[in-house]
Amino acid sequence: MARDEYDLVTIGAGSGGVRASRLAGGYGAKVALCEQSRVGGTCVLRGCVPKKLLVYGAHYAEDFADARGYGWTVEGISFDGVYRRLLRDNGVEIVEGTARLVDPHTVAVAGRTLTAKRILVATGAKATLPAVPGIEHAITSNEALDLPALPRRVVIVGGGYIAVEFAGIFAALGSTVTLVMRADNPLRGFDQDIRVTLAAEMEKKAIRFCRHATVQAIEKTSEGACRVQLATGEALTADVVLYATGRVPNTRGLGLEDNSVRLNEKGAVVVDSWNRSTVDSIFAVGDCTDRLNLTPVAIAEGRAFSETHFNNTPIETDHANVASAVFSIPPVATVGQTEEQARARGDVQIFLTRFKGMRHTLSGRDERTMMKLVVDRATDRVLGCHMVGADAPEIIQGLAVALKCGATKRQFDATIGIHPTAAEEFVTLRAES
Ligand code: NDP
Repeated sequence: MARDEYDLVTIGAGSGGVRASRLAGGYGAKVALCEQSRVGGTCVLRGCVPKKLLVYGAHYAEDFADARGYGWTVEGISFDGVYRRLLRDNGVEIVEGTARLVDPHTVAVAGRTLTAKRILVATGAKATLPAVPGIEHAITSNEALDLPALPRRVVIVGGGYIAVEFAGIFAALGSTVTLVMRADNPLRGFDQDIRVTLAAEMEKKAIRFCRHATVQAIEKTSEGACRVQLATGEALTADVVLYATGRVPNTRGLGLEDNSVRLNEKGAVVVDSWNRSTVDSIFAVGDCTDRLNLTPVAIAEGRAFSETHFNNTPIETDHANVASAVFSIPPVATVGQTEEQARARGDVQIFLTRFKGMRHTLSGRDERTMMKLVVDRATDRVLGCHMVGADAPEIIQGLAVALKCGATKRQFDATIGIHPTAAEEFVTLRAES
């Protein structure tokens, strides 16, 4: 069989793989990018982008309702083509097919054998379903983005990013939503004030939480609905059961372990801070490494890899103070340490405010915004910024720059606010404890 030689063969055309390949190609490397499905990956095709469009759409329901207080009486998008053009412009060859590692420098794909100095694994992650009787009746976020009609009753299992985002979308569009989670509040790992505030705001929107609850079985009823039996004894009836109980790295069947690439117990490729696996010529970026599973992080890792190896500019990806947002309704955004993390490391001061946004003085909607700063008492450095409320992701992105620069609370206070905004509260916060 003919062997085609490359500088880089990338497996997976999602956010990380596309960025790395495009840059490497632009720097003159000969690059092949293997993809078994469409170019774009989870974020563009089955995640962040379609989800955010649904969140925008869902918000109109509230916006129309709120408009009354002010006296009012009241397609699909494809990035596939854009990505292909960007890759082609940078000389990257796209190879359609399922790739498999043959040896540390060889990939077999679509009946061809590609050899490369370096191989980049950027295969992402996929939704996982636990072994519950009747789980075949449940859907994941993939199918949730493709439902033919709005379900009347939705049961969502899980309390993470995806669960709360879809709960918000379905509820705003008019479905009756019940969220089943094993914890007492959603978003484990987030600051406790965020978790409690978000749960309270979601409950105000008639989303019901079944706390400390697990599913024992799912059955189809004679009417074609699903009956979700909880361990608490309660049974829920739903038209759609959506599982959002986490994602697992897409690393099986690639021939990685057969070639001494170490995977951890979750199946993630073990890499160092230079994205290098346990085999010198094999690298990995993005969700298949299960570090910070966020699109911009995968892109930053892909960029760091290509700058290091194809542009003679070594870059280590910095995973500290990465801001993130949950597009629940209302949204959550956060950067830096939670109060719990910071307290475990030293003495902290907490600054917290809750208020009704100005918009809701007339709309009448009982929605509260929560903002919180976690500050190191000894150095005055701001260690964490947390927010639940309208525009939180837009506001926190700017504060992430301040945290990267090591800003102190005194510097926050010396910043003059923009009035009238919610964001100005972040520069006028007074001590609570
Ligand atoms: P998460 O890891 O965020 O949450 C998983 C949830 O499922 C947790 O609440 C967990 O409960 C629960 N869970 C896990 N296993 C079981 C089980 N067997 N039975 C019942 N509950 C279970 O996963 P998601 O699927 O929501 O999202 C995957 C990843 O995708 C996220 O970690 C995030 O990195 C990324 N993402 C990011 C988004 C963004 O940036 N806006 C949006 C969507 C996804 P417990 O708390 O008890 O452990």
